[in-house]
Amino acid sequence: MWFGVVSLFPEMFSAVTESGVTRRACEKGLISVTCFNPRDYAYDKYKTVDDKPYGGGPGMLMKVQPLRDAINAARAKAPAGTKVVCMSPQGERLNHSLVTRFHDWGSIILVAGRYEGIDERILQKEVDLEVSIGDYVLSGGELPAMCVIDAVSRMVPGVLGDIRNAEEDSFAQGLLHFPQYTRPEEIDGDKVPEILLSGDHAKIRLWRLQQAVVRTYERRPDLLQIRGLDATELKLLCQ
Ligand code: SAM
Repeated sequence: MWFGVVSLFPEMFSAVTESGVTRRACEKGLISVTCFNPRDYAYDKYKTVDDKPYGGGPGMLMKVQPLRDAINAARAKAPAGTKVVCMSPQGERLNHSLVTRFHDWGSIILVAGRYEGIDERILQKEVDLEVSIGDYVLSGGELPAMCVIDAVSRMVPGVLGDIRNAEEDSFAQGLLHFPQYTRPEEIDGDKVPEILLSGDHAKIRLWRLQQAVVRTYERRPDLLQIRGLDATELKLLCQ
C-alpha cells in the first residue's frame, strides 16, 4: 500500500513510520509513506506557505502555488490513477467501510491542511474526496492522515501477525469486539468468565459472538440497524 502525504510537518509521520505495527509494515515493504512538503515548493525568500483569505477575517489559508505543486509532485511519484484525499472537518466521516475502500485503492495521496484551511478551488480541482475523523477541529490534518494510514495498514495482508485479529476487530463484521481477559485469573475478586477456561473452543466461539452482539446492541444499536442479525445471532441475543 502506497501512501503519499502532503504536509507542512512531515516529521510528525515518524509516529507511524518509526513505531509499532506500522513501523514493521514499512520495514517489511508492505506499506510505504512518502511525504511532500509544500515548503519545498515555495520559491520566495521566506519560503512562504500561507496567504490571506479574500474578504478578510482572522487566520490564514494555505498558499495555493506551493500546495498545488506539492500535490502534483505526489501525483508524479504515485501509481497511475492514485486518488487525492484531503483531511477536513467538513468531509465524509471516516469509518470502517471508507477504510476498506482506501485499502482497495492500493495507493492514496493524503493532504493535511493547516491554518484555516485550503482554497475552495483547489479542493474542487485537485481533491477527489474530503474526509473527517470527527466533529471537532484539530490544528492540522497530520493526525487525521495518520489515523487513515494506521487503519488502512491493518488491512494489508501480513501487517498484523494473524489476519484473524483484523477480522475480529470492532466494525469488521459490523459488530463491536467481544470483551477480552488476560492474566491473572482473578482481579480483586473479579473472575475471568468460566467458559474461557473450559478449553471448549466451539462454546467459546458462541459465547464471544453472543457477547459481541449484546455489546453492540447496548452500545451501538445504530450498527445493528444497518447490519441486521442472522438467525443464530438473534437466538444468542434472546438467551
Ligand atoms: N477552518 C476550518 C473549518 O472550520 O472547517 C478548519 C481548519 S483546521 C484549523 C486546519 C486543518 O486541520 C484542516 O484543513 C484539516 O486538514 C485539518 N483538520 C482539522 N480538524 C479535522 C477533522 N476533524 N478531520 C479531518 N481533518 C481535520
